[in-house]
Amino acid sequence: MKNFLSSSQALMTLPILFFIFLITSIILIWTYPQYSTETLLIDVNNENTQAITEPSIGIDSYIEKTNKEIGSGFTCHIIQEEFEPTCRLEIWLTDSKIQGLDLSRFQSMSIVGTFKSPTEFDFLRISLRNYEKLISETDVDKNYKFNLIEILSRDIKNPILVNLNRLSVPNWWLATVRDQNIKRDVDLSNTSMIEISTGLHTTPGQYELEITNILLEKEVISIEQLYEYLLIFWCGFIIFSIIKITLFLWIRINDKIVSENALLDINESLSKHSKKLELINKTDELTMVLNRRVMKDKLMESLNNNWFPMAVVMIDIDHFKKINDTFGHQCGDKVLVNLGKTLNRFTKEKESVCRFGGEEFIILLPKSKIYELKGRLEQLRLDIQAQDMGITQNVTVSIGAAYCDERSGFKSLLEQSDKALYQAKDKGRNTVIFYQQEVS
Ligand code: GH3
Ligand code: MG
Ligand code: MG
Repeated sequence: MKNFLSSSQALMTLPILFFIFLITSIILIWTYPQYSTETLLIDVNNENTQAITEPSIGIDSYIEKTNKEIGSGFTCHIIQEEFEPTCRLEIWLTDSKIQGLDLSRFQSMSIVGTFKSPTEFDFLRISLRNYEKLISETDVDKNYKFNLIEILSRDIKNPILVNLNRLSVPNWWLATVRDQNIKRDVDLSNTSMIEISTGLHTTPGQYELEITNILLEKEVISIEQLYEYLLIFWCGFIIFSIIKITLFLWIRINDKIVSENALLDINESLSKHSKKLELINKTDELTMVLNRRVMKDKLMESLNNNWFPMAVVMIDIDHFKKINDTFGHQCGDKVLVNLGKTLNRFTKEKESVCRFGGEEFIILLPKSKIYELKGRLEQLRLDIQAQDMGITQNVTVSIGAAYCDERSGFKSLLEQSDKALYQAKDKGRNTVIFYQQEVS
């Protein structure tokens, strides 16, 4: 999972998904009319369709019009309104009069056709008759609930649009079934017949109805709903993409930090190692002071940095041969080790000590003050003498020092300190001699 997220493959899927979703969205919007509604086309010219008048009294002339190509309708001339005559077209939806269609899911009905009336204030009445089980065994007509709407003639256009949500059950029908336990609401669950008729209290005159089609429609999804779903989906996709990109970057950065840290660790251990190697290279392995080769570098470093005044001090163990002879070579080595430790402790920052050879050591003291140095060297001599050097005898050293204030005296410092050391030996050993002092 982590590998997938951190791989560039993970990010590559996003533009691919983006294009797939974009094309899908465009197709969904483009083809919206095809799937947006569920429709049901009613055959208005089937053999059960009939145009009738009721009561026939008050009607002057009546012609039923049914034509296989054109559709169904009637032309009806009403002369006496007081008998409340109606002319109507009954369109039966199934062959069985008691088993209708469930139209309750439909929201609208379009009647393709025309209606003409004497005045624009006459009504066209549309009833969807729903068969209700056994309201009356004697008067079968009572078993059909009227789900009804009346539309003013002047509001009628072609097609005649009927909002099924505005249907109502008329009180006069409810009155006829008042003893029955019948629901008063509109019910289209078992619609047997669509009846289109003239309304009550009609103006005397000629009424004409011609219809070719009836189309019931149910909106599966509105365009607003479609846009809303697409918007929700795209917001989700954008959030998902942001999370994915953030996760990808986070894992990448994390991996980088981990590998950088590992690299730093390796570098650190390498530099530690090389420092160690460098130190081993520079150190005399017995006494752990610097070796002779390094002393040359140290002298050059002090000179280049102009660390004056400067002193060079030579130290030689007194009668070391005798120590070797008396205590053995190993004990002699021990004395050298202990002296190395003492001299290392003695040196401060910038000062360095090296083994010049055998039992001779050199200390380089840049930026040293002569009055301090005298005291320090005398103290060093006393410390060595007092110190336990690993043999049952005190060890003493002779110290020869040379000192210069500036560059000009630098080149003779080694020679002078060597001479001073000889003087110290001559003077009976276990002493500190400053070359300049002796000369002046
Ligand atoms: P002095 O300096 O007081 O005049 O007398 P010395 O006996 O110290 O003089 P010398 O320089 O003749 O003797 C140095 C001796 O140091 C000779 C040698 O055997 C010994 N020596 C040199 N290097 C080592 C070493 O690494 N280990 C041991 N144990 N002895 C060493
Ligand atoms: Mg010597
Ligand atoms: Mg010696």
